[in-house]
Amino acid sequence: MRPQDIIRKKRDGLELTKEEVGFFVKGVATGEVADYQASAFLMAAFLKGMTHEETVALTKAMMASGTIFNLSDVSGIKIDKHSTGGVGDKTSIVLAPLLASMGVKVPMVAGRALGHTGGTLDKLESIPGFRTDLSMGEFMDTLTKLGVAMTGQSESFAPADRKLYALRDVTATVESIPLIASSIMSKKLAEDLDGLVLDVKVGAGAFMKDLDMARQLARTMVKIGKSLGVRTVALITNMDQPLGRTVGNALEIKECISLLKGKGAQDLQEVCLQLAVWMLNVSDAAAENVPVKSLNAFTFRNYKHEAMEFLERGDAFTRFTELIDAQGGDPEAAFKPAMLPTAANTKQILAPRAGFLRALDAHLVGEAAMLLGAGRMHVNDTIDPAAGIVLNKKQGEKVEAGEPLAIFHYNSDVALPEAEEAFLRALEIHDRDIAPRPLIVEAILEA
Ligand code: URA
Repeated sequence: MRPQDIIRKKRDGLELTKEEVGFFVKGVATGEVADYQASAFLMAAFLKGMTHEETVALTKAMMASGTIFNLSDVSGIKIDKHSTGGVGDKTSIVLAPLLASMGVKVPMVAGRALGHTGGTLDKLESIPGFRTDLSMGEFMDTLTKLGVAMTGQSESFAPADRKLYALRDVTATVESIPLIASSIMSKKLAEDLDGLVLDVKVGAGAFMKDLDMARQLARTMVKIGKSLGVRTVALITNMDQPLGRTVGNALEIKECISLLKGKGAQDLQEVCLQLAVWMLNVSDAAAENVPVKSLNAFTFRNYKHEAMEFLERGDAFTRFTELIDAQGGDPEAAFKPAMLPTAANTKQILAPRAGFLRALDAHLVGEAAMLLGAGRMHVNDTIDPAAGIVLNKKQGEKVEAGEPLAIFHYNSDVALPEAEEAFLRALEIHDRDIAPRPLIVEAILEA
């Protein structure tokens, strides 16, 4: 086999065998396939698409290029959740301890902020001392002891995907459903899971701006999960506006702490509870060794009620404090959020006119937060954990002219004017309101 023959076959729209895909991806990981050959392959795959069998082969080969967890020594059902990325999306930080407190094991490998989107690892690292670079031994110990561990992707995790993703970034081949789906699933399925719940975001601040594309991505990932023997469900959720009332790392941790005590922004709480419901449902299906069932109103209510109880009783919060402790952080910070990094400066952003807030574009709000220091323009940029935005008003709310819509938190004002300009562009204020896209668009169980 030669890389150029595989590229030619894909270029001509023919279906590759799993051996060919495996050979090519292995070559990418070892360096035997040159970057220019990998780039040509990516463009051919982008333009010609990939069949389900090719996509599964690509996922498997990228998984096999690196470390695959073996969690067989950890008893219980292991479920993770993954979001395709958004603004103010802090659900993992609530869900991981919540589900663990309910008896589900959550071995979570999370990501970092890039561009307008936030990252779970950066948020967790705003807690003084919290480590996200756990060794495999530390990860296993924490998971065994607490039912949850949250760490970053080590270099050895799906290295072929790491290389291919970097090439996609500079060859205009990111926006391909099979390439995105296999990239995400190769990392998630390397976690040795019994089940996976995907949160596929749709809207202004999401990867997928339109619903058809979000559906296609969700279905493709669900089908890959099933083909690789992992019960997988996808929820499509709204990312037209940021989730919750905060954007920025320490600010988001403060919001998570409130929600972990059962008090939180309505939209954030709703998305967390719905994801919790599906994680519990997938976990039960795995425990009973049956396919995931769709939920009727009764079973849905029961799961939701149960999850709410664990929040309100403080069990989820307690597990979060234990997780902070186990991962080197100071659990006092959860009791005294004032111990979290706080910005030296704040600035109110006032409503330019009266009316109803019809749009609060998540992409632009994310960009404003990034400019204040909360995110990264480039992979190696450093983050200011204290920087971010508190949203006083969300879509659909009535505003008065001159009323504070948001509060910027910042230490450096170098990009303050640009951040303000981005935030003002995010707003649409009208005399009349219109119904926003539903928060939970749909659940996808079948491809
Ligand atoms: N996230 C990933 O991990 N891979 C993609 O291709 C897109 C988003």
